[in-house]
Amino acid sequence: MRYAMAVDTRKCVGCSDCVVACQTENNVPIGFCRDWITETVDGTYPNVEIELRSERCNHCDNSPCVRCCPTGASHIVEGGVVLVTHDECIGCGACIQSCPYDARYSHPDGYVDKCTFCMHRVEKGQKPACVDVCPTKCLYFGDLDDPNSDVSNALRNRKYKVLAPEAGTKPQIYFLT
Ligand code: SF4
Ligand code: SF4
Ligand code: SF4
Repeated sequence: MRYAMAVDTRKCVGCSDCVVACQTENNVPIGFCRDWITETVDGTYPNVEIELRSERCNHCDNSPCVRCCPTGASHIVEGGVVLVTHDECIGCGACIQSCPYDARYSHPDGYVDKCTFCMHRVEKGQKPACVDVCPTKCLYFGDLDDPNSDVSNALRNRKYKVLAPEAGTKPQIYFLT
């Protein structure tokens, strides 16, 4: 099993409903976020292309945040999902420094937090909160090893990219272009 997400950059309208849903579902404190919207502009006027992306932890296959964690709080569970055990985290911030995607934040309660792929929902057969709420249905989640999963179907017929492949982290959030 390999959980992953695909984000359709052609359908994302940057409404931030995914960000609000995540904050509500996961009690993310005000001023912090587990997911966010990035806008990139390519070209020069009048030939300008704008890309909107809903971004979050990439649940990397080769995750520096897990390698550098001195306590084992940052770890990988079944399905390749990268999690932080809050009561084992000493808040040293090594993982924050090591992440090329700036996907983690220091929680005011003294531990580091980030996207969990909403495993508490997935284990109950539900979709992640951000996927569930997206009004344009541009987020696809599932098991890459299942050819019939939403994410496998999304990747089958479209071109896609990952962010900062040169970092060598093998990210598992795929952006349909
Ligand atoms: Fe770690 Fe950052 Fe990759 Fe998430 S995106 S697994 S925090 S290196
Ligand atoms: Fe590990 Fe916590 Fe330090 Fe991050 S802040 S490296 S999770 S102990
Ligand atoms: Fe937030 Fe869950 Fe979406 Fe991750 S999968 S960004 S934790 S709502």
